[in-house]
Amino acid sequence: MSVSTSLYDTIIAGAGPVGLFLACELSLAGCSVLVLEREEDPSSPLKRAPFGLRGLTVPTIESLDRRGLLAQIEARAATRTTPGTAHFMTQARRPGGHFAGIQFFHDRINTERWPYRLHGVVGGVAAEMASIEAVLTARAEASGVRIVRGAGIEGFTQTDAAVALEAGGRTFRGRWLVGCDGARSVVRKAAGIAFTGTEPEFTGYSMQADLAGADALKPGRHYTVQGMYLFTPPGTLALADFDGGAFHRSAPVTRAHAEAVLRRISDADVTVTTLHLATTWTDRAHQASTYRSGRVLLAGDAAHIHSPLGGQGLNLGLGDAMNLGWKLAATVRGEAPDGLLDSYGRERHPVGARVLDWSRAQVALMRPSQSSRALEAIVRDLIETPDGATYFAERVWGVCLRHDLGDGHPLVGCSVPDFSLGDGRNVAALMRDGRGLLLDFDPQAPLRPLADRHAARIGYAAGVANDGLGLQAVLVRPDGLVAFASDMPPDETALGSAMTRWFGR
Ligand SMILES: Cc1cc2nc3c(=O)[nH]c(=O)nc-3n(C[C@H](O)[C@H](O)[C@H](O)COP(=O)(O)OP(=O)(O)OC[C@H]3O[C@@H](n4cnc5c(N)ncnc54)[C@H](O)[C@@H]3O)c2cc1C
Repeated sequence: MSVSTSLYDTIIAGAGPVGLFLACELSLAGCSVLVLEREEDPSSPLKRAPFGLRGLTVPTIESLDRRGLLAQIEARAATRTTPGTAHFMTQARRPGGHFAGIQFFHDRINTERWPYRLHGVVGGVAAEMASIEAVLTARAEASGVRIVRGAGIEGFTQTDAAVALEAGGRTFRGRWLVGCDGARSVVRKAAGIAFTGTEPEFTGYSMQADLAGADALKPGRHYTVQGMYLFTPPGTLALADFDGGAFHRSAPVTRAHAEAVLRRISDADVTVTTLHLATTWTDRAHQASTYRSGRVLLAGDAAHIHSPLGGQGLNLGLGDAMNLGWKLAATVRGEAPDGLLDSYGRERHPVGARVLDWSRAQVALMRPSQSSRALEAIVRDLIETPDGATYFAERVWGVCLRHDLGDGHPLVGCSVPDFSLGDGRNVAALMRDGRGLLLDFDPQAPLRPLADRHAARIGYAAGVANDGLGLQAVLVRPDGLVAFASDMPPDETALGSAMTRWFGR
């Protein structure tokens, strides 16, 4: 076995979207990063539309924008996705998303309820996994990250100073190891971190097929006495078969099996003549008991799994990476204030738990039972009310996601609005260098001396905001969360202590 002599600041297991985004964040903050990926070739038809399409929520869109990555992902989304492949794209009303397949519509959503969101940040972007990974890989490599493919991590040992691990027949060493190696994370298991939660109720199927007798199927999503089917003509299907998750990973999905499950769930006389593509998944919902064990951390699916219902997993994982990157980089540089790294798990574990519960609630509504149909009828009524539609939009889009950063202004713990200044600069562009940001909307700029004390870690922007929401000063962490906000001339002691809390002395 060959031994690499390099000691990397961080080794990341897994070049999925979360590992790649974290690598970009660490590299931006000046760390040396090695990414080890098990697969030789990242390409897969399951990373392309329709099954590889991922809906990006507001926090993700904002994070990508703050790193100058959104435009590239949007450009690829526009050129590669095929309009009309999904049933929802053909409807007269503009859908905003769904809860267990029950849609909410833009014409009912009251965006006035989000006073700290500026216009233009709600809605969503759908992009292929392949595009997201390609954009992140290019950024990571351009910023000096080393990515080694065909190097699956088999295990590791850690001391007080470093982690040593074996991958692809070689030994690598890093000061820190982050497991972004997906649902069956080797890193999580080797670290002995418990992964607990609820067991699956169904096997989900995503399939592309040629069908005979497809007229017997109704387009759209349907709950039946046997489960659920979602049909997008001519041959795209999603099914939920309430078998306790028994079929998932037990055998390959054959044409005959796909046809039998489809007939049973839909009760339609339909024939699968050719099965082009099929994959299964379940609603198992598990979460790591802790996101850190010594020098080893977890992010993304390695830390939490749940059903893809409502499309939250990738967004949750990218949120982990954005939260962790700057904290781990400050720790590597020896500049982190006490407890900074542990605030990662403290802030992100509850966010993950909430998403898992959101997915469980949808399963409760999908069960093939009379009580679930009764529950469905109630949710259908509520989701058509302005309050109901606004509530579901808020949860699904993540518009008002608030991390617990302590008391203070209601904006503290939320993603900063994309304020723009009179000279044309906006927050997203000001955050591209990965530092924190002090926004000073007082034209006299009295806060500059305070900011200058932390110039290496906090950028400073003063000016009159085009729409400052009545605020005078806002301190933003590198991950875009508001650490301090004031709608009066700020108390400099309080602002100074927020700076020390997050950026050190
Ligand atoms: C059908 C479906 C639809 C979905 N739709 C959405 C959606 O619309 N929105 C959304 O937010 N989420 C969605 N998700 C969830 C989303 O795809 C995942 O949450 C996301 O891919 C997790 O990213 P990750 O980087 O943590 O893990 P992964 O994407 O699983 O990447 C992990 C990487 O680690 C590698 N790896 C594994 N083991 C090792 C090892 N031992 N050593 C080195 N490398 C290793 C793997 O090869 C892989 O490249 C969906 C999921 C499914 C199945």
